Amino acid sequence: MENWETYVRKVVPYVPGEQPCGEQVIKLNTNENPYPPAPGVLRALRESDGGKLRLYPEPDCGTLVRAIAAYHGLRDDQVFAGVGSDDVLAMIFLTFFNAEKPILFPDITYSFYEVWADMLRIPYQTRVLDAAFQIRAEDYYGENGGVIFPNPNAPTGLLMPVGQIREIAEHNRDVIVVVDEAYIDFGGESALPLLGEYENLLVVRTFSKSRSLAGMRIGYACGAPKLIRYLNDVKYSFNSYTLNQTALALGVESLRDEAYFRETIAKITATREWTGVELAKLGFLFGESKSNFIFARHKSVAAEEIFRALRKEHIYVRHFSGERIRNYLRISIGTQEEMETLTGFLGRYLGQL
Ligand SMILES: *Cc1c(COP(=O)(O)O)cnc(C)c1O
Repeated sequence: MENWETYVRKVVPYVPGEQPCGEQVIKLNTNENPYPPAPGVLRALRESDGGKLRLYPEPDCGTLVRAIAAYHGLRDDQVFAGVGSDDVLAMIFLTFFNAEKPILFPDITYSFYEVWADMLRIPYQTRVLDAAFQIRAEDYYGENGGVIFPNPNAPTGLLMPVGQIREIAEHNRDVIVVVDEAYIDFGGESALPLLGEYENLLVVRTFSKSRSLAGMRIGYACGAPKLIRYLNDVKYSFNSYTLNQTALALGVESLRDEAYFRETIAKITATREWTGVELAKLGFLFGESKSNFIFARHKSVAAEEIFRALRKEHIYVRHFSGERIRNYLRISIGTQEEMETLTGFLGRYLGQL
């Protein structure tokens, strides 16, 4: 090893799901929305003024921040926007997780948390999900340097009731508690109403899943004005122009069409319920998903085998190698037709084994 290499910040990067090329694939591996963004978003994209690209975008993401605040009935100074919630979450780790004590998150959860903690040299401990893969609120009551978990959790899809989130916030008044609500729009009850009670709480959201805008990279955090100020201080010390002009404008458009948003989510949740019934008939076991994916194992066939068989059919799902979850598949909910293709194939495949 050359001397300079000693001083490299060595990290084990997060591994995103594959983005296979080609039209013929059924892509159920990264929890993208199978439906296009709202018609107003597409119109704004077509009509956007390219001449303006010579200018920097608004550094405070003001138009979008105001639209998000109005949408949730919050004040403008309670919202922080970033380049997808991954950017927002990374800023949160950098800003708030600076205690010597370990931060806490579940052993089975969004695998990026561990990556950020490692990269930023933040000590952490994981708390083991119970046998049914539920988060146990009381595991997060002890001394710590901060708490973060998704609700619904990923990749389990299981929801924690808001009452338990309140308990976690209540027992952690001295640290920041972050609820990552990437999937909350698919049937969960949000922790946003708790913001009035807890100044140490941050709720993080994304436009990537429920708003069909994964490619635009829009995410945000809601919390007390003081927390948002601290986040902005770090952001302006890092990269002051985060969201680009197009993303800012399209985010605003997306929020304007509530009817389309509701309609898309209704279709996805109906397809999720239908898929659950079919997967159960085929011998899959899983808990009650409140997200846009189902995390399931088969009663007799190994997940990896099914994963490979699906891939040969150009159907992509996600398989993780973690010890407790290696026999599970995370299957994103696509269109009804895509899920019929999936279950149709699985029926034939499992039937001939
Ligand atoms: C998808 C996802 C994110 C990241 O979403 P982006 O806004 O696209 O960066 C964050 N947290 C969880 C739990 C997710 O599943």
